Amino acid sequence: WEGGVQVPQEGSFIKLKEDRSIEVPDRVIIPYIEGDGIGPEITPAMILVVNKAIEKVYKGSKLIYWVELLAGDKAEAKTGKRMPEETLEFLKEAIVGIKGPLGTPVGKGGKSLNAILRQSMDFYSAIRPVYWLGQPAPIPNPERVNVAVFRENSDDVYMGIEYMPKAEDTKKVREFFVKEMGVDEFALPEDCGITVKPMSEFKTKRHVRKALRWALENGKKVVAVVGKGNIMKATEGAFMNWAFEVAKEEEFKDRVITEGEPKEGQVLLTKVITDQMLMQLVLKPEAYDVIITQNLNGDYISDLAAALVGGPGFVPSGNIGDGYALFESTHGTAYDIAGKGIANPLSLTLSGAMMLEYLGWKEAAQLIYSAIKRAIEDRVGTPDIANGFKKMGIEAKSLSTMDFAQEIVLRM
Ligand code: NAD
Repeated sequence: WEGGVQVPQEGSFIKLKEDRSIEVPDRVIIPYIEGDGIGPEITPAMILVVNKAIEKVYKGSKLIYWVELLAGDKAEAKTGKRMPEETLEFLKEAIVGIKGPLGTPVGKGGKSLNAILRQSMDFYSAIRPVYWLGQPAPIPNPERVNVAVFRENSDDVYMGIEYMPKAEDTKKVREFFVKEMGVDEFALPEDCGITVKPMSEFKTKRHVRKALRWALENGKKVVAVVGKGNIMKATEGAFMNWAFEVAKEEEFKDRVITEGEPKEGQVLLTKVITDQMLMQLVLKPEAYDVIITQNLNGDYISDLAAALVGGPGFVPSGNIGDGYALFESTHGTAYDIAGKGIANPLSLTLSGAMMLEYLGWKEAAQLIYSAIKRAIEDRVGTPDIANGFKKMGIEAKSLSTMDFAQEIVLRM
């Protein structure tokens, strides 16, 4: 390949069609970034499980050719750069990829690698399907949780338009509001900092369409649009209204209803205020199948949802744009346990299964889910899982990352 990455001769790249859907060859090239910290431990475990599931289901008729791309610590050691150009170029060429966690060195300059990746391919929706596979969890009946959080990924306070307290530019911005726009000085005192929260119709609607399509394709019933629209009318309120406008579009108008009982092939779209949703998730998580929300609310909501089923170590995620997709574990680099071979590989492995679903290789994804369920039912897992069971007075076998992956494969 012209970028210098070694590419297997037999494999081909995914094609991005005119309508931005993907065409996946049977021998597909998929790039991966190992990640920092526990990345080198959980990534081989994920690859083992994904390969075995494909082999079992498709018996050689489908195959992934994995291509390693450098980023983070490994890239810095080999090339002096934390995010080499060719990594970004290759990911674009390959359309779909997967990554382990990447560390952001504290105190060193430079943008977070995750932010660079997310922006480079405009992954505007971050999707976290949260469901329970039998692991120790902090709530009674965690099987009630089965909700996919769709977090907008390209808008909101994450755009970094910020004015620090007492800085020169802050004075200018403040003066504009007070003098030109007639804003009360009590609302914008001299010592205040200002963060701008933009939210646009275009970015909201493309995200909402993606979430509604996903809900319909996956036979979901109740979709909640979540935001604090009663307070932030110009942003989160507008987001919620735009979502309902999308529901009226030709593509959705008979399939997305806004009142009554959804029939077969329909979803019900409702509005829920953020604080209400946080409470509902704990008290009545079974009430919602899909949550469509903004960037900041999505951050809070997806972490709470993940906590309900035992933490981010058990939840996958995908960053998805127009065809382009990058799947990743939801936890960080876990430097505190790196190198010990005890990291839980489930978040990345489930992200691998989610990637298979995205490729349309659903039977292989299903096999991964059922094998993981069986392994947990048999009380085998990495120390975090085994210790969770022991705390509940249940015997469990503690295994290394790779041994746990082997146990999953044995149950396929
Ligand atoms: P972390 O998720 O790395 O760790 C938090 C705690 O959870 C630690 O005690 C850790 O040991 C444990 N933990 C995390 N993943 C685990 C696993 N798979 N198995 C067992 N235990 C696990 O969060 P942090 O310490 O806040 O962040 C560390 C670094 O990771 C930071 O540099 C941060 O920027 C980065 N980070 C990257 C991503 C990403 O790449 N998407 C996401 C979050 C954090």
